[in-house]
Amino acid sequence: MQAVPEMFGKLVFDERVMKASSSVKIYKALNQTIIKRQPLDPSVANAVAAAMRDWAVENGATHYTHWFQPLTGITAEKHDSFISPSPDGGVIMEFSGKELIKGEPDASSFPSGGIRATFEARGYTAWDPTSFAFIKGKTLCIPTAFCSYSGEALDKKTPLLRSMEALNVQAMRILKLFGNEDVSRVTTSVGPEQEYFLVTREMYEQRPDLVFTGRTLFGAKPPKGQELDDHYFGVIKPRVQAYMDELNEELWKLGILAKTEHNEVAPAQHELAPIYATTNVAADHNQLTMEIMQKVALKHGLVCLLHEKPFAGVNGSGKHNNWSIATDTGVNLLSPGDTPYENAQFLLFLVAVIKAVDDYQDLLRLSVATAGNDHRLGANEAPPAVISIFLGDELNGVLEAIEQDKPYAGTEKSFMKLGVDVLPKFPKDTTDRNRTSPFAFTGNKFEFRMLGSSNSISCANIMLNAAVAQVLEGFADILEKADNFEGALHDLIKQTIIDHKRIIFNGNGYDDAWIKEATEERGLLNFRTTPDSVPCILEEKNVYLLTHQHIYNETEIKSRHDITYGNYNRILCIEANTMIDMVRKQILPAVENYTAKVAQGAAAIKSVSPSAACKSETKLVERLSGLGDVIDERAEILEKAMIELQDVEDAVSMANEIRDVIIPAMADLRAACDEAETVTAKEAWPFPTYADLLFGVR
Ligand code: ADP
Ligand code: MG
Repeated sequence: MQAVPEMFGKLVFDERVMKASSSVKIYKALNQTIIKRQPLDPSVANAVAAAMRDWAVENGATHYTHWFQPLTGITAEKHDSFISPSPDGGVIMEFSGKELIKGEPDASSFPSGGIRATFEARGYTAWDPTSFAFIKGKTLCIPTAFCSYSGEALDKKTPLLRSMEALNVQAMRILKLFGNEDVSRVTTSVGPEQEYFLVTREMYEQRPDLVFTGRTLFGAKPPKGQELDDHYFGVIKPRVQAYMDELNEELWKLGILAKTEHNEVAPAQHELAPIYATTNVAADHNQLTMEIMQKVALKHGLVCLLHEKPFAGVNGSGKHNNWSIATDTGVNLLSPGDTPYENAQFLLFLVAVIKAVDDYQDLLRLSVATAGNDHRLGANEAPPAVISIFLGDELNGVLEAIEQDKPYAGTEKSFMKLGVDVLPKFPKDTTDRNRTSPFAFTGNKFEFRMLGSSNSISCANIMLNAAVAQVLEGFADILEKADNFEGALHDLIKQTIIDHKRIIFNGNGYDDAWIKEATEERGLLNFRTTPDSVPCILEEKNVYLLTHQHIYNETEIKSRHDITYGNYNRILCIEANTMIDMVRKQILPAVENYTAKVAQGAAAIKSVSPSAACKSETKLVERLSGLGDVIDERAEILEKAMIELQDVEDAVSMANEIRDVIIPAMADLRAACDEAETVTAKEAWPFPTYADLLFGVR
């Protein structure tokens, strides 16, 4: 094995390679493009493309691709080889600046939510020079944005970049007011913690539900689950460790800062966390991480499950989005500072986030809404569907003191009159970690914990950045006009706390009493399902936010609305059909065969020993035969509901029908099948059980 520093970024066309392979002039021009986001001169583009090609070919690449993130939520690539015929019958390896900057994939089959009619299939990809190109297999991958010819974003990267820009513009206005003359750019950073499950490939392949839907649609509770909490941070099994080692190496080669690895709460569940990076790079890296996780698993005879809820009754998988805002001078704006002035600036950003999360709870919830994540949020699991913010005791005390003009009873006693130079220094509060909060302040960043494990992190960060940009814009409008900056600042912070403190909650987010208080007393939103949360994107205040901050235009908003519904409907139809298939082809035949076998056994016993009572056999035959009937009836109900669903024309009614009729019918059918599993002999059951899957990696 190579040493890590040597291996790190080996497959990335990063600054080190650029410096080594381009002329100083080109390197500088490219760097300006990256740092200042200035457009790239075509002659420079040609030189950069040539340098990229030489480097890629040297490292074994034969193809290149514009790598993008369509609205399917995964990544897309179409490989073109570098070859171009030469007159002598051979080939040369070619790659032009034009090919680097712009591509035209035949994009007709990507979801566009009606933006681009299929007869007009053209869309184009445009290079994102702020995310480095890399080699995957034999292909040079160029991170790109994907747009329609009319300029609408057909991907998740474009709006993410727009949201980062919106936040930059507004945050810069605030920083100017505080006299930060040296700052020229503000960016957001994200460190996404990624959870996943590992099962053996052999068992996976015996479960059509895992193969087709990524989760188990059946499975009785195993005798042992996660009750003992003996898996969390437990000793990593050698086979899993070997997987993690190879995964780390592959990620490091791609310049991904894989940092932490550990066992998670559920058996067979693990986590990987990278060191944080600029948001668009973090988003690219997270997509790559998920892809490599799955690829490397196969090499170890394993399958990596990224579904939010692979196993009912066992913890699901999420993704914690650690988010912060920093200046290009290296100041984290969510870090309490050393001076009263810095702290006033920190508090302004802090309350801006609080207001943003309160004002746009609906969009944040929507940003993580998928069929898979519905099994976690709103289903008595971590975290709840109600969004609230955890601040910790120290900060809470500070905000309360400001709100009530009371002395701050922290480390130094003094009045929290902001801007007036007595604002105390307060220590960072990192001790009190509340694991149940959907949105927690953790010392110098916010951790948004509602993301599902398979979600692209783009959506959540688009909404978060947009919401915070909107609030900062309002703040800047007020403060720029103020005659007395310090007085206005104090009033603004105080008023924001008063108006938005309902979103702050430091207690146990799993508690039913909290959900009641949150929804009934505080008026917070509780969208339990995806169909509950999608309509909000069309609400006036949200359309205003997204168009005003130039994140989406109205057509793009409508397309996201339609695509979210469409995805939800498709996923659930596949799940329901897979269930029916497994019941008809595997479960019912198994139950019937086993019932007959027990009955035959009992008959054989009686023929030898007529006085044998065969009580347990008789009871079992009766129970199983009854269960078989129930399974059949419930399968029929689901089958009928699925047929009726075909007549529902619009996606919105279909999603509501799925939520209200199909999902309950699936749950009923599953309950009967799971009961049958518990009374059927192990060898008679048609596929691996929960116990097999959860404890099978050895
Ligand atoms: P935890 O106690 O939540 O595990 P860590 O310090 O291990 O906290 O960080 C978890 C994730 O948060 C990592 O991906 C880390 O890189 C990221 N992170 C740390 N600091 C920041 C920051 N300032 N901005 C964004 N992400 C950060
Ligand atoms: Mg964490």
